[in-house]
Amino acid sequence: MNIGIIGLGLIGGSLGWDLRVQGFRVLGVSRREETCQQALALGIVDRASMDLSLLRDADFVFLCTPLSVIVSTFKSLISYLSPDVIVTDVGSVKTSIVRELSSLWPHFVGGHPMAGSEYQGLDGAQRDLFVGRPYVITPLPTTSETTVTKVRDLAQRLGATVYQCSPEEHDRAVAWISHLPVMVSASLISACLQENHPEIRRFAELFASSGFRDTSRVGGGNPELGVMMARFNREELLRTLGDYRQQLDQLITDIEQENWLSLEEKLTATHHARKKFVK
Ligand code: NAP
Repeated sequence: MNIGIIGLGLIGGSLGWDLRVQGFRVLGVSRREETCQQALALGIVDRASMDLSLLRDADFVFLCTPLSVIVSTFKSLISYLSPDVIVTDVGSVKTSIVRELSSLWPHFVGGHPMAGSEYQGLDGAQRDLFVGRPYVITPLPTTSETTVTKVRDLAQRLGATVYQCSPEEHDRAVAWISHLPVMVSASLISACLQENHPEIRRFAELFASSGFRDTSRVGGGNPELGVMMARFNREELLRTLGDYRQQLDQLITDIEQENWLSLEEKLTATHHARKKFVK
């Protein structure tokens, strides 16, 4: 089977690597010639081009460009595809993309591999990125079961655990566990930059260790991706940020009023609740 990947970056490159290991022939399209050559040299793709016509022979296509160009890229691709090709995307926000692409292509299923890193571009691609990670697929009630099964099977072959929900449910859930954490983590880094005593700031930078590394990781990642999450999932992100602000206000009140019992109750509840999210 020929699998086309458009956008040879962190996610597209990682997919190419794993799919070739699975024995698929991978055809890669990216924006820059340099990236195409690098993908060939690394063995991430069998063929690479900046020209979408390379995907004439594709049986299955993954759209892995930044969110803002997924729909326009697909519109440029349509004329090269044979009518039974299965198409999926890996965008971090689903509702608008799924609605639009489903109306353009009957064999489209939205997808979102819940895997990534703070890196960007092909240099950030890694083998086995999806192993043991959730991979959410978001078909519409009108999507054929055969198409859903094919996307599901491929995601399972990457070693991912596949979940299925509506695009709206996906966007509301990931606002909590993916998009809100990016904004919270970014605010944490920004807050540290408010320290205006140079020596204290220098000490803080020197003393930062595992706790700061963990809590700042997603806020220090790909800025373009963060902006796209906010732009495409604006309403859900604002809802979660509003709730988060209330939580912060309650913590401030507890500490101002030296209400250590209330603070301990909150931290005990979060100590137990974390296990539900991080297995
Ligand atoms: P990325 O590392 O920046 O890779 C995207 C690549 O797409 C770029 O390196 C660029 O390659 C290429 N590209 C850009 N515009 C293009 C165009 N018009 N046509 C063809 N190629 C184009 O981004 P990513 O993190 O892999 O994210 C890609 C998608 O995956 C996004 O939709 C994102 O929402 C989703 N996603 C990301 C993560 C994550 O944590 N990073 C996780 C899950 C899903 P060249 O310019 O080098 O050719």
